[in-house]
Formats: sequence, structure tokens, C-alpha cells
Amino acid sequence: MYGHAFIGMVVILGGSMVSSVSLCWLRRDLRLQDNTALCRALQSGGLVQCVFVFDTRILSELASDDRRLAFIWLALQQLQAELTALGGSLWVLQGDPVAVIPALARQLSAGEVYANRDYEPYARGRDEQVSQGLVEEGRRLLLFKDQVIFEQDELLTAAGKPYTVFTPYCKTWLRMVTPAHTACWEAVCRGRLRVGAAPALPSLAELGFAEAQVDVGKMPIGSVGAQQLLVDFQHRMPRYHLQRDYPAVKGVSYLSTHLRFGTVSIRQLVGLALADGGEGAICWLKELIWREFYQQLLWHFPQVVEQSFKPQYVDLAFPNDPVYLQCWQQGKTGYPIIDAAMRQLNQTGYMHNRLRMVVASFLVKDLLVDWRLGERYFAQQLLDFDLAANNGGWQWAASTGCDAQPYFRIFNPLSQSQRFDPKGKFLRRYLPELAELDNKAIHAPCLAKQLPAGFSLGRDYPWPIVDHAQQREKALALFARA
Ligand SMILES: Cc1cc2nc3c(=O)[nH]c(=O)nc-3n(C[C@H](O)[C@H](O)[C@H](O)COP(=O)(O)OP(=O)(O)OC[C@H]3O[C@@H](n4cnc5c(N)ncnc54)[C@H](O)[C@@H]3O)c2cc1C
Repeated sequence: MYGHAFIGMVVILGGSMVSSVSLCWLRRDLRLQDNTALCRALQSGGLVQCVFVFDTRILSELASDDRRLAFIWLALQQLQAELTALGGSLWVLQGDPVAVIPALARQLSAGEVYANRDYEPYARGRDEQVSQGLVEEGRRLLLFKDQVIFEQDELLTAAGKPYTVFTPYCKTWLRMVTPAHTACWEAVCRGRLRVGAAPALPSLAELGFAEAQVDVGKMPIGSVGAQQLLVDFQHRMPRYHLQRDYPAVKGVSYLSTHLRFGTVSIRQLVGLALADGGEGAICWLKELIWREFYQQLLWHFPQVVEQSFKPQYVDLAFPNDPVYLQCWQQGKTGYPIIDAAMRQLNQTGYMHNRLRMVVASFLVKDLLVDWRLGERYFAQQLLDFDLAANNGGWQWAASTGCDAQPYFRIFNPLSQSQRFDPKGKFLRRYLPELAELDNKAIHAPCLAKQLPAGFSLGRDYPWPIVDHAQQREKALALFARA
């Protein structure tokens, strides 16, 4: 399988046998800069080889033209060029890491495999199995904190329990963070990365995937792309708190996909926000803290993947009308703000946070569809899909999560549309069929006294599939019965 592999040199130091090669297994940390596992591997003193495995257990669940595969592949291409420039190389393999990683470690005589910790239940199980496989052959898997500032049990309540309410968690987080938490790892790579050992990066087609579906212009790739986005965001950061809720305005950072795949370091982002310290920066920092809040929740309560956090809502009897679900997925509900948001998701793999909250609430509380079906659809479509944030966001909107929106608070899609896209700029971008409607009618064509000549509701744009006021009452009754 590893045609170009070589046998790593083994040296004897002070009487004990020390392997001169270690492996750095990249997963959701596709960058060389400030990468904890890579820096620790380099610090160990031996030569380091980097590897990425396209995990067939994950791939079997994805479509072959999944946008994320293209994003990862393009990031790997960039990584390989960076590594080559530093005299290193990158192994890109495909298979089950439980078999692939110990086999590569054996082939390279690598004594240690360095990796950054992943908190998702699947990853935790996988890493345990990989570790076992390595230990059986006298090797070790070493895991490090990298994608968060605080992990696992580092922040607990005074009673020693995990936090389940955001505000006190956030306060403690802000109180505990020190400059040491945001200090970046120095990567002195040259000379320590093994030269010319890995085979060439297989093409997407060779890996069995379709060609890149990511619009690189809109989503800059790899750590270079992340830094471009960051530079662009930094001068907007002071206004973040004022602009972040308006989907037609460039108010947010668009860094979520980079945070998901680790093409940017969380320490760099937190460090910048703390150094700025202004209202916009701190508001943005709190969003990064939400990210960690959900990560620690998933770590402590992995059962949320399958069920409601709140036990009283585990068995909510959602009617789950498949036609409603399909209209929602396709952006054909007759509610422009919902339809524009869903089309943004389907076309770009991104959706603005305000809209994620509104469409999630609409699916659960207007269409009475189980939040897990919406969560699953987001998981398929989002370029930035992250189990912890997605599950947390859905359970928040559905009122089933910890510290969630109370069940009786139900977003009104019309007033959300009028408030956060007052001139219909975002609506017109994704619903060209409504472009000629005036700024009032565009939010609810079915209520307009007059529509443009030649525009026919029902033919050119759907009538609303449900009545918000009626569905609201049904949702309240459903939750009240629980
Ligand atoms: C139903 C629902 C599903 C979501 N699914 C995901 C998901 O799969 N992946 C994902 O990264 N985010 C998810 N979010 C959170 C949020 O919508 C996105 O992180 C944000 O829209 C990404 O855009 P940005 O990078 O420009 O964010 P910014 O506003 O610039 O925020 C900076 C970063 O903070 C983090 N962040 C922001 N808001 C949240 C939040 N509410 N919860 C957790 N982290 C947050 C993200 O990493 C984001 O990149 C979801 C929210 C909801 C309501």
C-alpha cells in the first residue's frame, strides 16, 4: 500500500532504543502554523512525517461530490506545498484509520503518533482503537489540546459539575483565560520534516470523489485563505456587535469552516479579540466561547447526539410531514426569509447565523418537524458542519437543549425578515423571482395589496404552506403536553 515508504532510522540513546521518526496525524487541524501536535512532535527531537487519512467510515456516509471533500483536498494540496518547501512531505491515505495509522507507523518505524484531540464520540472511540493498535506494537498515540482554549474538565462549576448554562460558563472562561492560553506554538520545521518519503497527493478522482465543488473565490482555501479572511474581518471587528445580525451586510467573519478544519488556530483568534478588547471584539469572542461551550457539552453529554438534552422533550410527538420537510429543504415554503436562507445553504454550503436560528425554529415550531431531521439536513449541506455547534444550535432553537430558547418563544418569520433584512436585499439575492416586489411586499407576497404586473403567486412563487399563527398554537400545545 505504501509503495514509496522507507524504513525509519532507529538510534540508541543512553542505552534505551529511541525511534528517530514520529508521525503527526492531521485531522481537523490542517495547518502547520501553531499546530500543537506538530510542534510537540518536532520538539521531541526526531524526524517528523505528517499524514492525513480520508476515513472511509466517514466517507461512506457522504455523497462523492460533497463540498467538504473538495475543501479538505484543496487544503491538503496547500499543506503539501508548504511542507515540500520546508523539506517535508505529506502522506495522504484512504482507509480505516484504526488499521491505516498503526500500519504506517510500523512501516516508518515511528515510535510515537502525535495528534490533536477530537471531542466527538466517533473520534473518541476511533482514537482509543488506534491507540490500542499502536500499544500492542510498543508504540504510542499522544493526544493534545489544540482546537479549544479550555477542554474536558478544565472549566467546571463550583460543585465540580460541567456547565450547562452559557452565561456562568462564559464568565468563568473570561476570568480563567491568560496570555499563556493564547500563546502560539513556535514551529521550527526546517530539517526535521522527512524529505521525499511520501507518495504524491492522489487526485480527487483517484480518491473516488467528484471534482472540486467549492467556490474558492467565495471561500478562500487552507491556512492562506483563513488568514485572508481574518485580515478582511479585522477591520470590521469593531462593528461586529452592530452588524452581525444582518445577512445582507458583511458583518461576520466567515471563519467557521476554517475553525472546523483547523486551517486557523483558535489561539490566534482569541488572542486578537482579547488584544482588541473593544465592544465588537468581545461580542465576537463570546461567539467563540459559545463554540467551546458546545464542545464541552458534547464531551460531557455525548447522548445529545441522539436525544434531547432536556429529558421532558425526549419523546415529543412531532407529526413530521414529509412534504413540509421537503419544501423547507428546497426553499419552497412561501415564506421568503426561510426560502432565501435555505437556498443560500443549498447553493453555497453556508447560512448566516441569524437565519440558522430562524429556519430551525420554523422547521420545528411552524412545520412541526423533529429537530433531528433538520439537524441531519444541515449536517449534509454545511461546509462548516460541526457536530457540537450544529447539535447545540438545533437543540437551542428547538428548546430541547440545555440553556435553550424557552419553548414558547417562537420566531415570527415575517417580523424577523422585516427587522433583519429591511430592504429585502438578501431576499432579492437568493429569490430573483421576487426581485421586482417592493420593499414591503417582498417579505410576504401573499399579503401584498398589489403585485408587479405579470407576477402570479402560486405560479412564480409558492403560497405559504402553513399559517404561522395557527402552527404556533399547535407547537405550544405539543410542548405543553410534554
Ligand atoms: C441551527 C444552527 C446550526 C448551526 N450549525 C453550526 C455548525 O454546524 N457549525 C458551526 O461552526 N456553527 C454552527 N452554528 C453556529 C453559527 O451559526 C455559525 O458558527 C456561524 O454562522 C458561522 O459564521 P461565521 O464564521 O461568520 O461566524 P462569526 O459570527 O464570525 O463567529 C465566529 C465563530 O464563532 C463560532 N460561533 C459563532 N456562533 C456560534 C454558535 N451559535 N454556536 C457555536 N459556535 C458559534 C463559529 O466557530 C464562528 O466561526 C449553528 C447555529 C445554529 C442556530
